[in-house]
Amino acid sequence: MGKTGNFDHMKLIGQYAGGHKKLITLGRCIAAVSAVLTIIPFYDLWKIIRIAVNGENTDDISFYAWQAVLFTIGALFVYIAALLCTHIAAFRVQANMRSSLMRKIITLPLGIFDEDGTGKIRRIVNDSTAATETYIAHNIPDKVVAAITPVGLIVLILAFNWKIGLICMIPAILGFVCMMSMMGKGMQQKMKEYQNALETMSSEATEYVRGIPVVKTFGQTIFSFKKFKASIDDYGKWTTDYTLHLRTPMMGFMTCINAIFIFIVISAYMFTRDGILSSDILDIMYYIIVTPLVTVTLTKIAYSGEAEMTLIDAMKRVESIMQLETLKESTEKKDATGNDIELNNVSYRYNGAVRDAVSNVSLKIRQGEHIAFVGPSGSGKTTLAELLVRFFDVSSGEIKIGGVNIKDLPQKKLMEMISFVFQDSRLIKDSIFENVRMSKPGASWEEVMYALEKAQCKDIIEKLPKGIDTVIGEKGTYLSGGEQQRITIARAVLKDSPILILDEATAFADPDNETKVQAAFDELAKNKTLIMIAHRLSTVVNADRIFVLDDGKLVENGDHNELMAKDGLYKRLFDEYSKSIEWKVSA
Ligand code: ADP
Ligand code: MG
Repeated sequence: MGKTGNFDHMKLIGQYAGGHKKLITLGRCIAAVSAVLTIIPFYDLWKIIRIAVNGENTDDISFYAWQAVLFTIGALFVYIAALLCTHIAAFRVQANMRSSLMRKIITLPLGIFDEDGTGKIRRIVNDSTAATETYIAHNIPDKVVAAITPVGLIVLILAFNWKIGLICMIPAILGFVCMMSMMGKGMQQKMKEYQNALETMSSEATEYVRGIPVVKTFGQTIFSFKKFKASIDDYGKWTTDYTLHLRTPMMGFMTCINAIFIFIVISAYMFTRDGILSSDILDIMYYIIVTPLVTVTLTKIAYSGEAEMTLIDAMKRVESIMQLETLKESTEKKDATGNDIELNNVSYRYNGAVRDAVSNVSLKIRQGEHIAFVGPSGSGKTTLAELLVRFFDVSSGEIKIGGVNIKDLPQKKLMEMISFVFQDSRLIKDSIFENVRMSKPGASWEEVMYALEKAQCKDIIEKLPKGIDTVIGEKGTYLSGGEQQRITIARAVLKDSPILILDEATAFADPDNETKVQAAFDELAKNKTLIMIAHRLSTVVNADRIFVLDDGKLVENGDHNELMAKDGLYKRLFDEYSKSIEWKVSA
């Protein structure tokens, strides 16, 4: 038990439980005792019926009745003790799982945390560990009880009158067989499909809710969210398939349980044909009460099977994170001299992609130079910039900063050297002060104010009720895209790193904000190496050098005038851009 294919979930649970593993075993043993105690009242019941039928000493009835009550209550308390043990172990396992996951996540390359990746990881850290907790706390002791109780009942049934007992067992066993056929091999796969369908549906739903403004503004319907609709359809189809898959066995199961009485009637008829014996009446009455219980307890085993599949799925998801490759920290730490950046034959291919996103790029950026990456959408600009901060490690080639391969630089040092401002900059739900200070923990109030001023944020602070202490996202305090952008620039100003990467950072700013954002960038980029990626080619005209990418390859480089003279890809892109501006102006 405990294995599906080569996945040993109990062993894994044991690893996460550490010293608390013994508590799981103890919980199991105590649950077994409680299961045995629950059988005793059924013996008392048989005694009581016998006394009543035979008209023996009726004083004994109350003795057995009280014994039944006491054992029932006793079994309950013992079971609570078992739950206590398994709960302590379960919470420990969940805590250990979460901290292992968090420790692992910190070492993962940043590239994993895109929109999609973050949602998945969050679900796994929250939900999959919670599923494991539920399983250990409740399903493990339940499973012990579910296994022992029917065995105990069957022993009793056969002990009192094995002939009637055997006949009564026929439907119970048939029902059990029907149920087990539901739980067959395909089930694990089905559970996985179910979890996947749920996952897609929930992430598409989030996407949909985010898009509601668009839907309303443009008078569209839910059907315009094709992926969301498809995910609902998929889920619906899964549910129908699953229900149909279970229809026959479920019918068999219900028929068997309810047919128990027919079998009891038949056996009653068979055994009482030659005259009624009071002991037979006793047994038959007893079986009318007890036999259905056998099937009911057997059902619990089936449910525990379902819980186990949910658990295995959850643990596999946790392991899928634990097995991700971590960003390797080189043991020989070197110190960079200066901030020159050098790329030698750098290529990068995303996992599972068929082509390189960046292919064989070599270039040098001198300290203090302002350069731009330009190219059509999907040409690899973002990927190239992300490789510089080790969002991923290069597939081949090398990246050096200050003469040292970035893999040999301590991660912390690399992060100090480079600031990154993205298009969709995120602020956390905290005060503006803390949001800016994230880039330099321990910075003073004056430093933060200075950074905000440099980043042209004064007007934002002034209009907010609590100024710099206003918590963003609370009580309807939201900032516009451009305003958020300026706050993140203040972050970068405070960090004051020598290298600055701006990835399409002005793309969404509204005209009023754009001038401010641009002014903030100019301030920020003074005396720094600046790498900018820009849609609006007007912003790259003044760059010292422009690198033009196409399909992951570096195709041209030079300053604006040189590239315009070349009449290549850059000129084409720039002409297109100029035309789109004219079009906008004339429109
Ligand atoms: P750009 O920034 O120039 O628009 P990107 O660097 O974002 O281009 O993308 C370069 C190529 O890599 C594209 O073909 C894109 O589809 C692919 N790509 C980008 N991100 C991922 C990812 N997370 N997984 C797989 N492929 C990706
Ligand atoms: Mg990009």
